[in-house]
Amino acid sequence: MSTTITETTDAASAPLTLITHVVGGAHVASEGRRGPVFNPATGKQTGEVALAPAEFVHEAARTAKAAQKAWRDTGLAKRAAVMYRVRQIIMERADEIARIITAEHGKTVADAHGEVARGLENVEFCTGLMHHLKGEYSEQVATGIDVHQVRQPVGVVACITPFNFPAMVPLWMVTTAIAAGNAVILKPSERDPSAANWIADVFHEAGLPDGILNVVHGDKEAVDAILDDPIIRAVSFVGSTPIAKYIYERAAANGKRVQALGGAKNHMIVMPDADLDSAADAAVSAAYGSAGERCMAVSVVVAVGDVGDALISKVADRISGLVVGDGTDPASEMGPLITREARDRVAGFVEGAAGEGATVVVDGREGALPEEGFFIGASLVDGVTPGMRVYDEEIFGPVLSVVRVANYDEAVDLINSNRYANGTAVFTRDGKTARQFEYDIEVGMVGINVPIPVPVGSFSFGGWKDSLFGDAHMYGPEAFTFYTRRKVVTTRWPEPSESQISLGFPTH
Ligand code: NAD
Repeated sequence: MSTTITETTDAASAPLTLITHVVGGAHVASEGRRGPVFNPATGKQTGEVALAPAEFVHEAARTAKAAQKAWRDTGLAKRAAVMYRVRQIIMERADEIARIITAEHGKTVADAHGEVARGLENVEFCTGLMHHLKGEYSEQVATGIDVHQVRQPVGVVACITPFNFPAMVPLWMVTTAIAAGNAVILKPSERDPSAANWIADVFHEAGLPDGILNVVHGDKEAVDAILDDPIIRAVSFVGSTPIAKYIYERAAANGKRVQALGGAKNHMIVMPDADLDSAADAAVSAAYGSAGERCMAVSVVVAVGDVGDALISKVADRISGLVVGDGTDPASEMGPLITREARDRVAGFVEGAAGEGATVVVDGREGALPEEGFFIGASLVDGVTPGMRVYDEEIFGPVLSVVRVANYDEAVDLINSNRYANGTAVFTRDGKTARQFEYDIEVGMVGINVPIPVPVGSFSFGGWKDSLFGDAHMYGPEAFTFYTRRKVVTTRWPEPSESQISLGFPTH
């Protein structure tokens, strides 16, 4: 099995890997445009990815449609057997995919293993597809009449994914879509595209028929072709809020079922009764893990009452010990950002924070950082308030803001006023406060003394407000609903002698 298809030579230096599409079970390159792929830890280009033109996408959709009927006809036990084999292969070769992730994304290998493990949860959930696809039956709803409901696949679905979880988010989507009997066009991020090809190869090795999981690489041109293709009946998207909104509106206008998850600004409240050492550990882990490039990263700590000074001092102490470096070095705790532009953008937020009246307690632009690559250290900014850019915008980097408020009500008002509502957490030792927080807070995923409350695979993942357009959450039970259409069948077996004409509306 190979994810590398051909090699092309960059005139200036080392050969670049050409990352091709996977359509109909074959690795194929499209003509025309290519996009650069970098190793963020070295800053060097390592590959180029084929960017699909619109017609290539439409052809892939036709391939998927042609393959889907036989997959729909495949018995559920055989479909489940594919999922079991996928699980086994991923477990055995987790280190291989983790290193592919690190090479193009930059996160540490240990963190990439965590991503793979969370993606695997979705495969495990889908091994139970027999159960998840069960219908419903009501006997004798009227005399001699029974009703049952079945779940049938939508057909061909598209999955469009972001750079920050190049294996986990594709696994969130494609496993359930395939388990439910659909064919998939996966369009991963063009910045770290190789993990998607690896996943497609694994599904094929596990026995998935050709044409059911197709990977089409590309950028806006490919995405727009997906949104306009009449064969594609449903679109799952994860990415930034402006693009999520665009995807939602254009796909829905074309009559497609769509779920589009967007960006985030996740707050962690620290109550005066919280254990401050645990809270500081949690804040540092959740803010700086994966260099802050997680949609569930904590980017704002809300210090309630008088905890601010002590908490900031504990967080600053912990930051000073963080090791920033190449993700393949086992000593590294935080890798680089995905691109030079992302790094510069994050540096701009830190630069701007002081000008807006905040206090930069720890400046990630300073200190010892690797000379090559897209590195920036962890930053901590105090005295942040709504209205400052550092608060209002999603930074998506290792910057933790601290907002100080007088009491619990102010903290809840702050969070509920934010346009994003992906995740949030409260740190407290008081059960009543925790319960009240769970009740009051207008956010889709809530942690009680848990800083990154990503639901396990048997629940579903999704935020509220500008963090999700549509109403179906990702993976778990809601994904089986999203990727299937319900059909309700009403049945009667009358004796011919009971037949009669009646123009009245049927009641019972
Ligand atoms: P992005 O929105 O730039 O890209 C996501 C996908 O959209 C990619 O496949 C990309 O090729 C495509 N795309 C980009 N620009 C487009 C355009 N103009 N038209 C059509 N398609 C376009 O997001 P990203 O930078 O790859 O990922 C980071 C973002 O994703 C952050 O905002 C993060 O919060 C969000 N995210 C959200 C969740 C969640 O569950 N809510 C999970 C992970 C990431």
